[in-house]
Amino acid sequence: MTGKAPKVETGDIRLAKLMASLRAQGVTNPAVTRAIESTPRDLFTPDLFQERVWEDSALPIACGQTLSQPFIVGLMTQALRLERRSRVLEIGTGSGYQTTILSKLSRLVYTIERYRTLMTAAELRFKQLDLTNIITKFGDGGLGWPEQAPFDRIMVTAAASDEPEILLGQLKPNGVLVAPIGKGPVQVLKRYTGDGHGGFAVESMTEVRFVPLLDGVAKDL
Ligand code: SAH
Repeated sequence: MTGKAPKVETGDIRLAKLMASLRAQGVTNPAVTRAIESTPRDLFTPDLFQERVWEDSALPIACGQTLSQPFIVGLMTQALRLERRSRVLEIGTGSGYQTTILSKLSRLVYTIERYRTLMTAAELRFKQLDLTNIITKFGDGGLGWPEQAPFDRIMVTAAASDEPEILLGQLKPNGVLVAPIGKGPVQVLKRYTGDGHGGFAVESMTEVRFVPLLDGVAKDL
C-alpha cells in the first residue's frame, strides 16, 4: 500500500514468472489471466509482505484473515465461467483482490464482508482503481443478499462447513456457485452448476485451505 511497491508491468519479471506458473497449473482462460495480470496485487498486500507480493502464496491481511493465493484466485475465477453480463455475489471481500478480478470480468459484483475494517479498506482500493461496478455490504455473507437475488454466479472465499443451501437458493436456475466446503483446515473446492430445474451438478475440484465462513458480523474492529 505504499509507493515503494513494484508497479504492475507486463515486463516485470516477477509478474511474468507468476503468470507462467498459473498457466502451467491450468489457469489458461485468456480473459482470466489478463484480469489477474492487470490487477496490482501490491495494493492489496500489507507493507510487511510487499517483498512476497508476486509469490504464488496466500498472505496475511488485517483481522487475522488472508489474501488468497493467486493460483487459487485464478482457478476459482475460471471455474465460475463468468460472462460479461453476469451479476455476481462474492462472500468474503477480505482485501478486495478477488473482488477486483471479478469486477473486470462481469457486469456487477455484490460483495459481503463481516469485518468493518476490511470492508472500509477494500472500498478505498476500489475507489483508487476506479472500479464502479462493485457494491459492498458489511454483514453476514452466509445469509447471502436476498434483496439482490437471484445471482448468475456466486463465489464464496471462506470455507463453508456444509453445502451452502441459503446461497444455492439465491442462484439462478442455470447459475454457477464455487465454494470451499469442509470443516477442517483443508477443504474441497466445489463447483455447483444449476441444471435449470432446481437441481445441481456438483464437482469436486481440488483441496484448498481457506479461513472458515463464520456466523454473524465480527464484534471486534
Ligand atoms: N477473497 C479474499 C479472501 C479473504 S479471506 C481476498 O482475496 O483477499 C476470507 C474472508 O471471508 C475474510 O475476510 C473473512 O472475514 C470473510 N468472512 C468469513 N465469514 C464471513 C461471513 N459469514 N460473511 C462475510 N464475510 C465472511
